[in-house]
Amino acid sequence: MIHIKSESELEKMRTAGRISANALHYGGQCLKDGMSTYELDKLIHDYIVKNGAKPSFLGLYGFKGSACISINDKVIHGIPSKKEYIKEGDIVSIDTGAFIDGFHGDNAYTFPVGKISDDARKLLEVTNRSLYLGIEQAVAGNRVGDISHAVEAYCRSFGYGVVKNYTGHGVGRQMHEAPEVPNFGEPHKGVRLINGMVIAIEPMINASGDEVFTQPDGWGVLTKTGSLSAHFEHTVAITPNGPEILTKPDIV
Ligand code: MG
Repeated sequence: MIHIKSESELEKMRTAGRISANALHYGGQCLKDGMSTYELDKLIHDYIVKNGAKPSFLGLYGFKGSACISINDKVIHGIPSKKEYIKEGDIVSIDTGAFIDGFHGDNAYTFPVGKISDDARKLLEVTNRSLYLGIEQAVAGNRVGDISHAVEAYCRSFGYGVVKNYTGHGVGRQMHEAPEVPNFGEPHKGVRLINGMVIAIEPMINASGDEVFTQPDGWGVLTKTGSLSAHFEHTVAITPNGPEILTKPDIV
């Protein structure tokens, strides 16, 4: 069932989205060579709590962290760890969610740590751009497949792999609601978008190959080829004025 949000609910989701986005932005600012993913997670956790929200991911399906932190060939769902260190040249995907006043916000960004390779930079640019191409399609009357196709076609044109095992999703009172928003598909297919729907669009793009596998910890998802992977995400409302990104940071 797809929950359509009223204007007053959207207003609450703007708050959740803003805190989630600020936490992500803050996490990116904190990133530095030599830091453990546990340390980074703690900073993000404290930031969300200080701003009156709860970290959406903490305890979600049993997840042991406030942010998913996924380095290099880890695509998503990295559990923060005291034994895992961030280093110069890495790309680090951070996924944060904030829950406040009954609603969630969800967003992700893959940050470069210091100087990264040209190939890595290109992967980040293309994946981020594909997110915005997907967002452009998030208008009433379109279908989910229009978003999926926009993301996939653009990323494939660079020879990149598109992760199929995990998808974007509706967001609202639950972190994960209907409909699923895959990063692959055909235009004009799937659920029709209507005003008041809120969805997380989140391309997960591999430098090579679509395939992924889950680490023995049951969480971390890695590229099968060992290639780098990037993940960018926004929570987006479908409105009469077009797509509205709810996860916009307002801190510098
Ligand atoms: Mg999400």
